[in-house]
Amino acid sequence: MELSQPSSKNQALLDAQLELWHQTLCYIKSMALKSAIDLRIADAIHDHGGTATLPQIATKIMLHQSKLPCLRRLMRVLTITGVFSIIEHPTDGAGEHVYGLTPASNLLVSSTSMNLSPFMTLMLDRVFVSPFHGLGEWFEHELPNLTLFKMEHGHNAWDFAGHDAKFAKIFDNGMVADSSFNMDIVVKECGDVFQSISSLMDVAGGLGGASQAISKAFPHVKCSVLDLPHVVAAAPAGTDVDYIAGDMFESIPPADAVLLKWVLHDWGDAECVKILRNCKKAIPPRDAGGKVIILDMVVGAGTSESDLKHRETQVLFDLFIMFIDGTERDEQEWKKIIFEAGFSDYKIIPVVGVRSIIVVYP
Ligand code: SAH
Repeated sequence: MELSQPSSKNQALLDAQLELWHQTLCYIKSMALKSAIDLRIADAIHDHGGTATLPQIATKIMLHQSKLPCLRRLMRVLTITGVFSIIEHPTDGAGEHVYGLTPASNLLVSSTSMNLSPFMTLMLDRVFVSPFHGLGEWFEHELPNLTLFKMEHGHNAWDFAGHDAKFAKIFDNGMVADSSFNMDIVVKECGDVFQSISSLMDVAGGLGGASQAISKAFPHVKCSVLDLPHVVAAAPAGTDVDYIAGDMFESIPPADAVLLKWVLHDWGDAECVKILRNCKKAIPPRDAGGKVIILDMVVGAGTSESDLKHRETQVLFDLFIMFIDGTERDEQEWKKIIFEAGFSDYKIIPVVGVRSIIVVYP
């Protein structure tokens, strides 16, 4: 049979259709990743010595035999998308694929301290994903204070977490996983930021993942976490970290330095200025070591225009966080709120992947 090529005009149309199909099906990629996490496939491969065939994975995750062909199709997606790798192909149509972990799925193994599964579980939770179905509709609403999150769930995010203990646990554990992973890198890459201080107030610090990492790396720093009462009530006991229930918009207890890890991106400029002003009241002057340490995204920092994955992840996160009225800021936008809150100087250290450390001085 002779193979005919489409005309260049038709080929261009088919390429355009492919582009739309590819973008439309992106969420299947996310859901395939979610199912791998739900099924603990990375653990299954890891516990099997780092490589496993399909029946071996199925046995480990206690999957019914009838689902084997479906698991094969899931693994086909997850290997093409780089979550898992194929170590060995079957020969002559016989035998089994042997699957292995990749650098990405190494971070989904639950027995390591770098396990990011709880964070991905949070990001892919129905509570976070379902509002985005209504994004187009939300744009048409004129009420400026109705967030996409509230339009879907009827409450703002923090009230929702305060009333839904199951989701609060998923949220707080997700944040702890993010903190454990990133703070390890932060203390190694820019530990000098914490060397000179003797006390740290981790404002809106959640269950204290960041504080615990800092306290472990710098035992001379007394770390405290300030967060909402429902979060503090769930805080772990028996750590070196103190937990204080309070409201950062009211007041912040005094310390040499304040840490704001992944807090300001949740809020609009006016709220950020309010929080930063309260931080300034809590710390000593610059010559006495006072500073605010922010871990957040500086859009455009730490990357070149050509690093598409980095750039795309930053702007995707910005659109994501818009669902609670949050925003990811570029340097100029950071500068505006930092100076408006009365600080005199800042330094951006882009050492945390798509996020940066911003040290702010009174
Ligand atoms: N800094 C933590 C948690 C970030 S999530 C981390 O990176 O792991 C944002 C946190 O802000 C949540 O724990 C939430 O409970 C807290 N928060 C929200 N409103 C607050 C308020 N008014 N006062 C103190 N904490 C607040």
